[in-house]
Amino acid sequence: MIIVTEKEIAGLIDRKISFEAVEAVFAAMASKDAYNFPVIREAIGHADALYGFKSGFDRKSLVLGLKSGGYWPGNEARGLTNHQSTVILFDADTGMVKALVGGNLLTALRTAAASAVSIKHLAPKGAKVLGMIGAGHQSTFQMRAAVEQRDFEKVIGWNFHPEMLGRLADTAAELGLPFEEASLDQIGSEADVIISITSSHDPILLDAQVTGGTHIACMGTDTKGKQEIEAALVARATVFTDEIAQAVTIGECQHAIGNGTLKEADITELGAVINGSHQGRTSDDELTLFDGTGVGLQDLAVASAAVDLAIRKTADNKG
Ligand code: NAD
Repeated sequence: MIIVTEKEIAGLIDRKISFEAVEAVFAAMASKDAYNFPVIREAIGHADALYGFKSGFDRKSLVLGLKSGGYWPGNEARGLTNHQSTVILFDADTGMVKALVGGNLLTALRTAAASAVSIKHLAPKGAKVLGMIGAGHQSTFQMRAAVEQRDFEKVIGWNFHPEMLGRLADTAAELGLPFEEASLDQIGSEADVIISITSSHDPILLDAQVTGGTHIACMGTDTKGKQEIEAALVARATVFTDEIAQAVTIGECQHAIGNGTLKEADITELGAVINGSHQGRTSDDELTLFDGTGVGLQDLAVASAAVDLAIRKTADNKG
């Protein structure tokens, strides 16, 4: 069995590899070559933790496995990341365990890759202003991946805890982009692309605030009860997702589906746009929305890429 520890991941895999792995697996999902198994997520009644499994199989690349982990809110006080996860990959021909891979950095990379893939395929071509809602751990990964998809000239940001906005300002500065703290009205009217990545349980961005042909990547809502975007805004948009079954149950779409303003048939898998079987955005005025719920196959795709790179590195070192 190959073990790729959490510490080794950063030296193996980068944003480009993550992007390509996620784009390919979204396409495989839409063509029904890859599928996710039902997600298990449980409050375990200890350490206030949420623990679960995400798993799936990609028949095209023969990647089979699961990501196990969850959320331990007390970790930060111990100097640890609250989200903890590990990926286990199996040999699709024999069922034998193939690899154990640290999943924390991979989760951030694959989540950022998902919104970046949505920006590549759905955002207006001339997008100049990136709006960020959220300034937590994932936000910097999101910003770094997003700016590689369009020639953004400015980043504007809002956060429920404004004292955290320095994180966005610092990341924008590293990327050579000006950063401005903004109101939600300003983000809704000025940003060409908006990424929401918070743990909110109430709508933050309201329908009336978004006035143009914006692309919104909703990345924070990955559990029943969470919400970042007003349901009416979701219902008004042309909606894409990683996986429809997750979008309607645990994603941002759950609320518009729940109040009857959005139907499952109105939602398209992003993979269909990647495959060319859906046209995606049809005009600069169109409001597009990607509900990125986070699927197990994304984790398996990036973990498999990391394992391949680890094997190559070991062979190179020996040779
Ligand atoms: P974090 O704890 O580091 O940051 C939380 C963010 O949410 C901060 O911006 C914080 O200010 C904001 N926030 C907290 N309480 C809020 C409230 N009541 N209202 C509005 N905003 C609030 O978390 P993170 O690691 O950056 O993750 C952010 C979200 O993304 C979480 O909900 C997490 O579950 C989700 N996530 C989704 C995926 C996916 O694939 N879709 C993957 C990883 C994480």
